Amino acid sequence: MSSAAAGAVVVVGSANLDLVVDVPRHPGAGETILGGDLRRSPGGKGANQAVAAARAGGASTTFLGSLGNDDGAEILLASLERAGVRTDLVQRSAAATGTALISVTADGENTIIVAPGANGDLRIDAAARARLAEADVVLAQLEIPLETVLAAAAARRPGAVLALNAAPSRDLPAPVWDALDLLVVNEHEALDLTGAPDQDAALAALLARVPAVVITLGSAGCLVAERGRPSVEVPSPRVPAVDTTGAGDTFCGVLAAALAAGEPLVAAARRAAAAGALAVTRPGAQEAVPTAAETAELVR
Ligand code: ATP
Repeated sequence: MSSAAAGAVVVVGSANLDLVVDVPRHPGAGETILGGDLRRSPGGKGANQAVAAARAGGASTTFLGSLGNDDGAEILLASLERAGVRTDLVQRSAAATGTALISVTADGENTIIVAPGANGDLRIDAAARARLAEADVVLAQLEIPLETVLAAAAARRPGAVLALNAAPSRDLPAPVWDALDLLVVNEHEALDLTGAPDQDAALAALLARVPAVVITLGSAGCLVAERGRPSVEVPSPRVPAVDTTGAGDTFCGVLAAALAAGEPLVAAARRAAAAGALAVTRPGAQEAVPTAAETAELVR
């Protein structure tokens, strides 16, 4: 399929089955406690962002990820397909599907342990290279091997945007920095990546390495910075927050879809901020992603 007028997004990233249990409090070392019923829901930054990009409408969205051969894989595939994501290039590994063990207390504080499993086996093969070469926007995160991110970067066509959501934080080697067209991080990741003492210093350090940077700021929206232009503060609509899980992933997926459809970065960030706000009004990650129409209503 070619990159049509509405554009094409390829999300290169993780898919995890979230195993969630409500707990009265988090257990200490060596302790066993009883929690509530087990919930299994589709997650992982890559899969969440692919769902958000596809639900944003317009762009065609491919998910390049690696799953095991288990129940978790089927739950993840079904959710991606329901959202309209192209899953024909999803790889299967002998390892278990990535799994996140999540405990949540009533005040919303959670602890998360991720077993990456099949995500660690994701590689860019010939079919993936061909799809990447058709993309307008390639969106990656850091729950997969860095060499896979680099291979995806190398496969994109000239003029395509490589956007990295540098989450979870980890040190990036120079070839990754050099490949990036756009970096999306939250405030903590901006400070972690740069070692800078505050947001202004972090932004300056990031712009020295990447031509365009978006720092998301939770309920305060985001900051959009492009080299050689004044940075722009994009507010987020005020909403009643129910569950902030997946706000960042919704933001990234919608941003990528809007860029692929030809929107300038600030307009795309406005749409992404509205979608992120809607996501916090609903529980869950992929279940909370709004439709294009819902987001458009809030952007107006
Ligand atoms: P996550 O909780 O998914 O890890 P994150 O830290 O990566 O999120 P945030 O900056 O919290 O990312 O959220 C991404 C975007 O979602 C924000 O830029 C904002 O537009 C929107 N958003 C997040 N929280 C709220 C909120 N409480 N009210 C309104 N908008 C919000």
